[in-house]
Amino acid sequence: LASKEVKKEKTVIKVGDVSIGGKEVVIIAGPCAVENEAQIINTAKTVKLMGAHILRGGAYKPRTSPYSFQGLGKEGLELLKKAGEIARMPVVTEVVNPEHVDLVCEYADILQIGTRNAQNFELLKRVGQVQKPVILKRGMSMTIKEWLMSAEYILSEGNRNVILCERGIRTFETATRNTLDLSAIAVLKEETHLPVIVDPSHATGYAKYVPSMAYAAVAAGADGLMIEVHPQPEKAFSDGPQSLNFSSFGRLVENLKLFTSVV
Ligand code: PEP
Ligand code: MN
Repeated sequence: LASKEVKKEKTVIKVGDVSIGGKEVVIIAGPCAVENEAQIINTAKTVKLMGAHILRGGAYKPRTSPYSFQGLGKEGLELLKKAGEIARMPVVTEVVNPEHVDLVCEYADILQIGTRNAQNFELLKRVGQVQKPVILKRGMSMTIKEWLMSAEYILSEGNRNVILCERGIRTFETATRNTLDLSAIAVLKEETHLPVIVDPSHATGYAKYVPSMAYAAVAAGADGLMIEVHPQPEKAFSDGPQSLNFSSFGRLVENLKLFTSVV
């Protein structure tokens, strides 16, 4: 169902006023995790002003260590929704448990499946049974073929609103957190009608590398970007080193406008 052989025209997913997969490069921005009311509302208002279209923020965080901050759960969902309403932006958040899908649907406009759950087939089937758009991140060791099969799990249950997100894969390289597979964008453009977005934050792991990979992703044809932004990255509960502060994010968006006018 993801194949271009089945459906030739590009899938455009509408969320509120935002179209993902259309002409405009969609910018999703916000903190890795919702930490408190001031943090998420402040971030929402600022990134909106700077040109972001969709607000992100994790409420259920799939952390490598069980001793790391796990997210605010339901309270995080409530704060994210409130921030989205104040800033007038649709919101996206990760769902990690099939039993949470209905709850997350009450608060989020878009569901996110994280890299660690990209082959959690029961979770994929469950998000396939709702109609909210799903951002399906690439599993960190997944081939593009396997990734598209995961998309099939969602599509075949009836939810045709799947957005693929390249977020870097595991390689031998350690200078960056993951290796951004830019060629995946080119391959997916050939293989599928689904929108493809890129997350240069998790791909690189360092704020200083995020802008260049964001520009490269747009040049390669990405339909959107997901960027981690935090009011004080050095104080973030999670993923601080890869999070942009407000001024870096503002600069990134301004530069992107120059790029998108020529690509
Ligand atoms: C995230 O978006 O905060 C996240 C955990 O991403 P990934 O699943 O790509 O690591
Ligand atoms: Mn993160």
